[in-house]
Amino acid sequence: MKIHNPYTGEGTWLRGSFHNHTTNSDGWFSLETVYKMYGSYDFLGISDHDKITEHTDNSGIETLFEAIEVSSSQTHMLVVQPDRSMMDGYTNEFTIPNYQRYVDMANENGGFAVLAHPNRFFSHYWREGDMFKMERYLGIEVYNGDGNPEYDIAFDKWDLLLSAGRKVWGFGNDDSHVYGQDKRAWNMVLAKENTRESIVEALKNGSFYVSSGYGFDSIESNEGTITVNLRSNKLLDNMYKYISFFGKDGHVLHETSGRLTQVKYECKGDEGYVRIAAYLEGGYAAFSQPLFVEA
Ligand SMILES: [Zn+2]
Ligand SMILES: [Zn+2]
Repeated sequence: MKIHNPYTGEGTWLRGSFHNHTTNSDGWFSLETVYKMYGSYDFLGISDHDKITEHTDNSGIETLFEAIEVSSSQTHMLVVQPDRSMMDGYTNEFTIPNYQRYVDMANENGGFAVLAHPNRFFSHYWREGDMFKMERYLGIEVYNGDGNPEYDIAFDKWDLLLSAGRKVWGFGNDDSHVYGQDKRAWNMVLAKENTRESIVEALKNGSFYVSSGYGFDSIESNEGTITVNLRSNKLLDNMYKYISFFGKDGHVLHETSGRLTQVKYECKGDEGYVRIAAYLEGGYAAFSQPLFVEA
């Protein structure tokens, strides 16, 4: 049995988000204010609708990403570190070739694309068939902080893609527009250094997890065993945790709770993949990327 563990690299955990709006599109706050809202982040992306907002050099945030939210009336896609030439003759029209071209241009440019809020059924969402027609995107937003749990959580679509053999990572972003939407969901990236190149490299390897407040210190694998070291300190160690291991088709493989600091799961070999959700009592959570299991 072989476990493909994306968390084996060296580095430090960096916190950041790629999907946030400013007054340059429909956000309530200027770029300058958004920088202040996220002043504690290690990296930040600004992704206005259908335009690339240029960063200024007084942000106070160490690493900045240019991004754009390609926003057709049907479906939205986040492009991080886009090739600026995509704006020549730009259209947000949703066709697979048009969206695919933006994905490929970003990949060529050292960036990546993420399918945004796939379940936002009241406005812009992704049909399952279209998610399968698209290729070479890095992931989907499994946790979007903009609105409602009914519409902005998409673990079901992630499991659908993963179970069909698609290797896509899960992202967490605020999609912040208005007051109160900041710091609801973010990505913790295990990167060699705090640079755009290191962060993108780690993301492409799946060396990150989604957080809404809780975290992992490390996720290890040895032979057929996955060992999850939950974020630990004197105060956290006294608190209750709820841990779930999910496999193919979203099946729950194992669940446990208690004043835990470490949880283990013995793979059987037929899981396809194993992903971990860890909740601290109070609702703060951390969601790992899948560890693919080869029988
Ligand atoms: Zn959107
Ligand atoms: Zn958005």
